[in-house]
Amino acid sequence: MDDSKMRIDTRLIHAGEPTPRIEGAVSMPIFQSSTYEYRGESDYHALRYIRLNNTPNHVALHRKLAAVEAAEDALVTASGMAAVSATLLTLLGSGDHLILQDCLYGGTHDLLTTEFPRLGIEYTLVDGNAPASWPAALRSTTRAVYFESISNPLNRVADLKAGIRFARAHGLSAIIDNTFTSPINFRPATLGFDLSIHSGTKYLNGHSDIVAGAVIGRRELISRINRTMAHLGGSLDPHACFLLHRGLKTLALRVRHQNESALRIARFLAAHPKIAAVNYPGLETHPDYARARELFDGCGGVLSFELKGGVAAADTLIRTMRLPISAPSLGGVESLITRPATTSHSGMSAAARARAGIADGLVRLAVGLEAPEDLVDDLGAALAQV
Ligand SMILES: *Cc1c(COP(=O)(O)O)cnc(C)c1O
Repeated sequence: MDDSKMRIDTRLIHAGEPTPRIEGAVSMPIFQSSTYEYRGESDYHALRYIRLNNTPNHVALHRKLAAVEAAEDALVTASGMAAVSATLLTLLGSGDHLILQDCLYGGTHDLLTTEFPRLGIEYTLVDGNAPASWPAALRSTTRAVYFESISNPLNRVADLKAGIRFARAHGLSAIIDNTFTSPINFRPATLGFDLSIHSGTKYLNGHSDIVAGAVIGRRELISRINRTMAHLGGSLDPHACFLLHRGLKTLALRVRHQNESALRIARFLAAHPKIAAVNYPGLETHPDYARARELFDGCGGVLSFELKGGVAAADTLIRTMRLPISAPSLGGVESLITRPATTSHSGMSAAARARAGIADGLVRLAVGLEAPEDLVDDLGAALAQV
C-alpha cells in the first residue's frame, strides 16, 4: 500500500519505519552511537553523526513526520525553540524583516525581542485577525510571515488562508507554529504553508517526559534548516528520538480524546453560573469558531476561562482541584492547570497583559487523558468551593 493513500492513523504507525525491519524488531531500536563507519561520503553533511541529524533514529522520524503532515520533508530538533530559532535564522539574516502575528508563544517572543536586535533582524507584529492591516507592515526586506495555529492563552485562530494569499502575493515564505493543533487537527502543507513548526514536547510526544521539536515542510527549506541546525548544535539525542517515535504512534488516539474532553469541559464551564468567560474555538460562541471549523479537524486540549470571582477564585479553584497538576505545558497524559499571569505570561507587564486581553484571573487548563466525566466532576466540586 502506497503511504500517501493511508489514513493519518495508519501513517503514524507505519510511515518511515525501516524496511526490512532491523533484526525483525517491531519497535524501532535505539542507535546509541554518536558516529558511524565511513562509507566514502564526499560531503561533510553526509557523514553519519548524531549532530548532523542523520542516524537511523532521525531518518525514521523525519520520514514519519513528513508523511503525517503530507509534506515533503521533516527535521527533528532538540526542543521546540531549537526548531523556531534554526528556522528563523535560516530564512533571515542581518537587514531582513519578518512579519508575525502578535500574542506569540513566550519563548518565540523573547527570541525576537532579545536576540534579533543584536543580529540586525527586524520584525513587525500584526493582528492575525485583521489582514487589511498587514500590507502596511511590508518592507522591501520582508522575507517571511509567521503564524501560530491557535494562540495562547486566548485560543484565537488567525486568518490563515489570508496569510497564505498574502505570502504568495509578496513572495514571502509562510511559516506556522502548529504545536497547538498537532498534525491530527491541522496539516499546514495542505493549505499552502512552506514550513510547520512543532514543540514535540507537547502533543507529538504526549507524555511530558522529553523536550523535542520538529520542522516539517518543503524539502529545499528543510535541507537548509538542517545545515543551520548542524552549526547551532540543536540536534535531538537518539534516546529522545526513541521516546518521540513511541509517543507519535498514539498521537491520533490521544488528540481526538483531548479534542472531545476539552469541548465537553468548555461546554460545562460555559453553562456554569460562577464562570464569566470561556475561550475555546470549538464553542459556537468563540469569535473564531467558523474559521476553526473550516480549517481544523478539532481544537485540541487547551482551553482558558475566567471566574466571576477573579484572581482569588482562580487560585482557590487551582488549589482545590484534585486531578489537574499546577504546571505549565500541554499535550501530555496528565491534565495541567495554570494562571498565565503567574506563569507563561508573567514576563509581560500587567498593562501589556490587559491590552492583550489576558485577565490576571484567567485560568488555562490543558486537558490530559483522564476520563472527561472525572474532570467535569472535579471542576464542579472545586467551583462549589470558590
Ligand atoms: C512549548 C512551545 C514552544 C517551545 O517548545 P519547547 O519544546 O519548550 O522548546 C513553541 N511554541 C509553542 C506554541 C509552544 O507551546
